[in-house]
Amino acid sequence: PLVLGIETSCDETGIGLVRGHTLLADTIASSVDEHARFGGVVPEVASRAHLEALTPTLERALDRAGVKLSDVDAVAVTAGPGLAGALLVGVAAAKAYALGLGVPLYGVNHLAAHVAVDQLEHGPLPKPCVALLVSGGHSSLLLVTDVAREVISLGSTVDDAAGEAFDKVARVLGLPFPGGPHIDRAAASGSGDAIAFPRGKYDDGTLDFSFSGLKTAVARWIEAREAAGEPVPVADVAASFQEAVVDVLTRKALQACARYDVKDLLIGGGVAANSRLRALAQERCDAAGVRLRVPRPSLCTDNGAMVAALGAEMLAAGVPASPLDIPADSSLPVTTVRV
Ligand code: ATP
Ligand code: MG
Ligand code: FE
Repeated sequence: PLVLGIETSCDETGIGLVRGHTLLADTIASSVDEHARFGGVVPEVASRAHLEALTPTLERALDRAGVKLSDVDAVAVTAGPGLAGALLVGVAAAKAYALGLGVPLYGVNHLAAHVAVDQLEHGPLPKPCVALLVSGGHSSLLLVTDVAREVISLGSTVDDAAGEAFDKVARVLGLPFPGGPHIDRAAASGSGDAIAFPRGKYDDGTLDFSFSGLKTAVARWIEAREAAGEPVPVADVAASFQEAVVDVLTRKALQACARYDVKDLLIGGGVAANSRLRALAQERCDAAGVRLRVPRPSLCTDNGAMVAALGAEMLAAGVPASPLDIPADSSLPVTTVRV
């Protein structure tokens, strides 16, 4: 069966076409440049951009996949979490397509979709697996027993998300928005142990995270440098900050695997594109005898394929379709995989 996925939760209009675990098309239009000068996503601007981009992005996907809209057997859409107005554009479109085509509608959780997308690259998910979900708005450790039906939260950030910390530190370093990829690049020529930044909740025995103290420590360190009239070593600050984040993320992810006796770790969400996180996770998984799965970077950041992948999984698992009057839920909890 051919599944259409629609993603409009933030600033990416993503369309995916998936058959089983095979990705046929993944097209995207981003309004990120329109937000850059505000240093963050402007909800009204994002919603309008989704309205304009949705149909052309869908046409491109159909073209690329060599299929017709009438070939679609199910429609999946991000129903939350995300920006309310942005979500509404995708949800309204998905309802219209599902109704018009007479096919089932799946209102899916964006965060579960960040996990499910890996199936397009590495095949069926081991059951269970531990998933480290690290994105712009969320940072969680999940026990994924069946991504189409059940995701259990083991821990999450008590303040900032990992991606949010990357974006805020990038801003104090004078790097463009969104900052994650810029920090990743700047860090390549710096040293991760140049500056000892704090690692929040490192030894607290929980599977929770905290990044706001780290963010503040970086800002204070830079201020002190500037006050002393000394130049800020951008590459070393970026590398040392990044090391502090990925050290805690990988440590807690492997603690989760050990605690639940799980031998498969999956990393998803925009921050999973980070090169140092991928490298350190591989190193620590190898040492612990845990298999690591991380999708290619283009599938880590927001896209439509991830939504189609989760929809396809639900269809295959016989999960009942969503009613046609589902709401867009901006604060949908990570444990609600289908609305
Ligand atoms: P959520 O999924 O929580 O709703 P979102 O959809 O806005 O949030 P994603 O697209 O999943 O977020 O991820 C975007 C985040 O990933 C941004 O914070 C961005 O800076 C970060 N990011 C992207 N690439 C990298 C990278 N190479 N290194 C670190 N962070 C990165
Ligand atoms: Mg984005
Ligand atoms: Fe996301």
